[in-house]
Amino acid sequence: MVWILLPLAASRAYNERMDRVIETTCRTALYRHNSKWLPFKYDINVYRGCAHRCIYCYALYTHDYIGGGDFFGDVYAKTNIADVLRRELPRFSREPVNLGGITDSYQPAERDCKLMPRVLSLLADFSVPIILCTKSTLVLRDLELISRVNAASRAALAFTVTTLNNRVAGLIEPGSSRPQERMAAIREVKKTGASCGVHLMPIIPYLTSGEESLEAVFSEAKEAGADYVLTGALNLKSATRKQLFESIKRGFSSEYANLKELYNDKTAYGAYKQAMYSTVEKLRKKYDMPSDAMPRPKQEPTQLKFF
Ligand code: SF4
Repeated sequence: MVWILLPLAASRAYNERMDRVIETTCRTALYRHNSKWLPFKYDINVYRGCAHRCIYCYALYTHDYIGGGDFFGDVYAKTNIADVLRRELPRFSREPVNLGGITDSYQPAERDCKLMPRVLSLLADFSVPIILCTKSTLVLRDLELISRVNAASRAALAFTVTTLNNRVAGLIEPGSSRPQERMAAIREVKKTGASCGVHLMPIIPYLTSGEESLEAVFSEAKEAGADYVLTGALNLKSATRKQLFESIKRGFSSEYANLKELYNDKTAYGAYKQAMYSTVEKLRKKYDMPSDAMPRPKQEPTQLKFF
């Protein structure tokens, strides 16, 4: 393993701190997961770790397996991933592949590492449909390749937008592009013919769950031409729970006590979720916005072959 330091100054991010990018190699590019809940079976993660530093990040546990240090500050770049993918693709079915299940493929490291262009080019060559969700406008750099994937099979993109409030976004997703820039990027993505949605998730009680806050996202998403808005509540697992509560305590001291109480009271939390989803449904109707759009291959998938 070679250790390199690359400047990660994402020009449009809130946080322009230096993070460490560590070159590494992988043995597998296409990862088959066992989740019953996800509508796709394969992920490609070109990085481990993510400098977007979302306080609600659900992927923190992935660094534990490799003793990887700080999930946000020690980002591992899989420099051989395109070569590995090139070997795997001739035997792969044309099932949709999710680009970035446990990281953001267009986080600041990608500006210099440029791992995604070769990955996209290969997926276009082999007509593999893609799903890609990001919080970075850096994805616009690769629009031509996304257009190629979409012409060969299908490309379904999405931007996560949890709030349009810059102060809140800067505190909960400090390494990402500003929400208004993500919304503006939807228009550019749509020009390629790819579908593009908004992931309004996780919805954080007291910070982003108010009707005004939710409506601002629905309204902008509609205006930008988004195909759907997917919503989801904030689920707190061990490492995420600790990280989120510590960050809320620092950045939103007045909301901290309420949030803690809510997550310690099952009845109150159930009532909160019901009210929140009923607001979401009201907005979904008002803006005529579906809840998701999955890419399907233009041809039936071929059988996966083994050695
Ligand atoms: S963009 Fe996704 S992977 Fe990256 S820190 Fe945020 S939640 Fe985690």
